[in-house]
Amino acid sequence: MWKPIRNSNQPLYQQIADDIERRISYGEFPPGSLLPSERKLAEQLGVNRSTVILAYAELRALGIIESRTGSGTRVSKYKWGATPKHTPNWHRYVEGGSFLPNLPFLRRIREALQKDKTLIDFASGELGADISPVEEINTLIDENHYTEYLGYDNPQGFVPLREILVAYLDQYRGIQTTESSILITSGSQQSLYLITQCLLTPGDAVAIEDPSYCYSLPMFQSAGLRLFRLPVDDKGVRPKDVRTLYKKHRIKMIFINPNYHNPTGTVLDEKRRMELLDVASELGLPIVEDDPYSLTAYHGTPPMPLKANDSIGSVIYIGSFSKIAASGLRVGWMVAPHSVVERLADARQQMDFGLSVVPQKVAAQFLRSSYVQPHLERLRTDLLYKRDLLIETLQKELPDLVSFSIPQGGLHLWCKIAPEVNDHKLLEEAIRNGVIFVPGSVYGSDSGYVRFTYARPKAEEIVAGTLKFASSLRGVLGKSS
Ligand code: PMP
Repeated sequence: MWKPIRNSNQPLYQQIADDIERRISYGEFPPGSLLPSERKLAEQLGVNRSTVILAYAELRALGIIESRTGSGTRVSKYKWGATPKHTPNWHRYVEGGSFLPNLPFLRRIREALQKDKTLIDFASGELGADISPVEEINTLIDENHYTEYLGYDNPQGFVPLREILVAYLDQYRGIQTTESSILITSGSQQSLYLITQCLLTPGDAVAIEDPSYCYSLPMFQSAGLRLFRLPVDDKGVRPKDVRTLYKKHRIKMIFINPNYHNPTGTVLDEKRRMELLDVASELGLPIVEDDPYSLTAYHGTPPMPLKANDSIGSVIYIGSFSKIAASGLRVGWMVAPHSVVERLADARQQMDFGLSVVPQKVAAQFLRSSYVQPHLERLRTDLLYKRDLLIETLQKELPDLVSFSIPQGGLHLWCKIAPEVNDHKLLEEAIRNGVIFVPGSVYGSDSGYVRFTYARPKAEEIVAGTLKFASSLRGVLGKSS
């Protein structure tokens, strides 16, 4: 909500009352709808509760709102006309629909980050501005003016971007493809959405890693899918588990993130990759290979994707600009058999008439430029530096309370903490202390795990943030330092 202007001539409570009245008149809070509690609004606005009490009292005196014990403060139903009018029951609509809301922990994290810009952010799974190619992208935008006609573009995505991706996928990922097998998406997220909505049917069983980024996405449940777990050990998933799940539940698809897996950082073992491809082809099962992190490999060349060895077209390969350049560009890609790409492009066209051409052009120019290789090299060095800062500080501060495997690529550290720690308490304590992370249970694991994204905070924030986390953990465990 809006922030009060502290140096205005009007008293604060009056500014708040006026703003609420304006929002009611705009229809933001329809007649009968619930307003935030006094305590919550005071917290959101950063004012004393007594100021909000005064503002509500003013609105109540004007008949604009009404409060009843036990049912909170609501917008008056009869204020806006002599005859009662029937506002749609927005609550029922909001609760309806087939799309589930985000997980409570993720909503809490989003709210905390919006409210407090000083929080040290180990939660957002993306690159910080300091390691993103901001200058390079700005230069490309300055050098290229979009004077051409901007009409609806090809439903599969901007052709020059698909063409340059053919070369990029060959050079960096060993994937041989053609531009007609590529679908440009607004990030891997949209690829996953299109796959779950268009290639699967409610009630279908699918296998996903445990833990997995996919558990943080209610979109799988929204699509009515039944999720079955493929446990991830230090070598990734076990192909024999796929066979078992197929026998037991007739799974229809496998979702895996084999390189620097989110959240654990694990790399799927070479032998298991081959076995997985064999099992999938034997059972006629498609594999969705989600591969946003591979080019962050800290040492040497990243492992080859399954797609590079997929001679029979079992694999749908998903890539993205988000974890190697800029998540806000919203550019990702999918490589799949042409019939699949065509079907998904058609569905996407029905949803939104296709992606904006502008970020696709920027992405194409970036991939065509001489910036890519030097940027990737710098990115790896910077990520490695940030990773080491985090792990050294954790080892120093919490030697007996945390354990982890050291990731060799990616943006995240998956950290085991004492299992008796209550995720909710730890997160709230950390937010109070000025740092934020994602509790492991968001990714489907038991409590007692934490995901730190070290790519996001600036290097100088990493030590301070880790110290704040350490004191929060000791605080909830009742241990002194
Ligand atoms: N897959 C994985 C494994 C991810 O970690 C993420 C982002 N956290 C995504 C997909 C979605 O990324 P984007 O849509 O930004 O490409």
